[in-house]
Amino acid sequence: MTSVDATQDCIFCKIVAGQLPADVVATSERSLAFRDIDPQAPVHVLVVPREHHGDVSVLAAADPALLADMVALADQVAGELADGQYRLIFNSGPRAGQSVFHVHGHVISGAQLGWSPA
Ligand code: IMP
Repeated sequence: MTSVDATQDCIFCKIVAGQLPADVVATSERSLAFRDIDPQAPVHVLVVPREHHGDVSVLAAADPALLADMVALADQVAGELADGQYRLIFNSGPRAGQSVFHVHGHVISGAQLGWSPA
């Protein structure tokens, strides 16, 4: 759901609007991909929809085509910046580690990845 109040202090809305700087690596008509400010892997890019949605479950219910657009952009980024193999992570809720409440997928790539998220 789009909320005017939610977007006012949203840093990712400000990046989308060009009001905050970002290292943008790819775009689509509906989504934007930029490097994470605190990378956890050789390739760590965030894919965000231009429209504000709080988390992935809200987005999936509201606009599944936009979620598909984000996934397609993540795939493109991993192909352009690495070897096309990647992990795509959506933290959903504070206990899962979500700290920015504008849905974003973390594209993690460029190395052999381990598996111990907890
Ligand atoms: P979350 O913890 O899943 O919500 O992920 C938020 C991510 O946004 C973290 O990995 C942060 O490093 C990243 N981040 C926060 N502010 C910025 C910014 O201004 N530019 C790029 N990445 C940011």
